[in-house]
Amino acid sequence: MTDTVTDRFLRYVVIDTQSDPKSSTQPSTEKQKNLGRILVEELLTIGLSDAHIDEHGYVYATIPSNVDKPVPVICFCSHMDTAPDFTGTNVKPQTVRNYSGGDIQLSGNPQRLIRVGDNPALLDQIGNDIITTDGTTLLGADDKAGIAEIMTAAQFLLDNPDIRHGTIKLLFTPDEEIGRGVDKVDLQKLGAQFGYTVDGETAGHIEDETFSADGVEITIQGVAIHPGFAKGKMENAIKIAGAIANRLPKDIAPETTSDREGFVHPIAVTGSMEKAVLKFIVRDFHDDGLADKEAMLETLVRDVMAGFPGSTYTFEVEEQYRNMKAVLDLHPEIVDNAVEAIRRAGLTPVRGSIRGGTDGSRLSFLGLPCANIFAGGHAFHSPTEWISRQDMEKAVTALVELAKIWEERA
Ligand SMILES: [Zn+2]
Repeated sequence: MTDTVTDRFLRYVVIDTQSDPKSSTQPSTEKQKNLGRILVEELLTIGLSDAHIDEHGYVYATIPSNVDKPVPVICFCSHMDTAPDFTGTNVKPQTVRNYSGGDIQLSGNPQRLIRVGDNPALLDQIGNDIITTDGTTLLGADDKAGIAEIMTAAQFLLDNPDIRHGTIKLLFTPDEEIGRGVDKVDLQKLGAQFGYTVDGETAGHIEDETFSADGVEITIQGVAIHPGFAKGKMENAIKIAGAIANRLPKDIAPETTSDREGFVHPIAVTGSMEKAVLKFIVRDFHDDGLADKEAMLETLVRDVMAGFPGSTYTFEVEEQYRNMKAVLDLHPEIVDNAVEAIRRAGLTPVRGSIRGGTDGSRLSFLGLPCANIFAGGHAFHSPTEWISRQDMEKAVTALVELAKIWEERA
């Protein structure tokens, strides 16, 4: 008997794979390898003889081509870790069969509801089987749904050798949620030309754009003096930092922007009278928009500093990641083939952009152009996370179709 995508999903989500941004090891938590080892065993069982996990926790495997002609080597990728935002220990998945509409009560926490008002996507799920947690943990559909779908598609291709396809590489990464998902990936070894992260939300969606992202660190050196003798001399770095934060434009903030607007966002402030450090993240879909926002921020800092002639500042910009669209536009077949695969899976393809980054944005710039396709989960990183069986099954179909389309069009 072969495993369904739901069997696999339910098996993977009970394995705690939370990553930890405070850890300096790779993977950040050793327990992520527990899932990695199970995946390797299952890959070997279905016949992928090169499946293995490396010392950094990455799982690699190859579905060999079954045609003579050359077909571009594609990669299906998803991440094994779950977000540090909410506990992933002791996940108890629950299934609402034949969902009839309305808010969903979670058995482990009667106060916690999955509300239709917060989850309009539930309106498209009537009659489907919806998997949730009991309300005390996150579910981990982000991104164990992607893993279950890739594993099931792999098994389907192996069980149906009449389906023609090129070489397909599978890659499961640790630590995506803490921004280190591709730090130790070996792209040479992977040997793929194009990739797909299976880490998006709503069924039918494909994303070929992410933010471009920088970090900015502003260090203020004030004038520190004994408060008893400070009149006319002291310039308190804490107050300078406060003045800067206070003058940030209110309409260029995460809490006031959406869709294709970028923002400037303070994420940390530390300091004393003598010295204060402000950390920001800056986001925009265009690199020049990013530069404009940074110039605006520096002008604002300079204006504030003018009122404190004895104090000095430094303003440092660090690149974090770049909009992957610049790379994907050079290879339109990546998105075109996925759009066709989604259509063949019976869905309406929806192209979108991510207000954030993915492993795919970094992979794209490391030499593996990567779009992001839906895994089907909703309300990521929270105890109200949910996914439907039917959407996972559509994702499996889309991946199988994608394998076929690359072969057909080669
Ligand atoms: Zn994810």
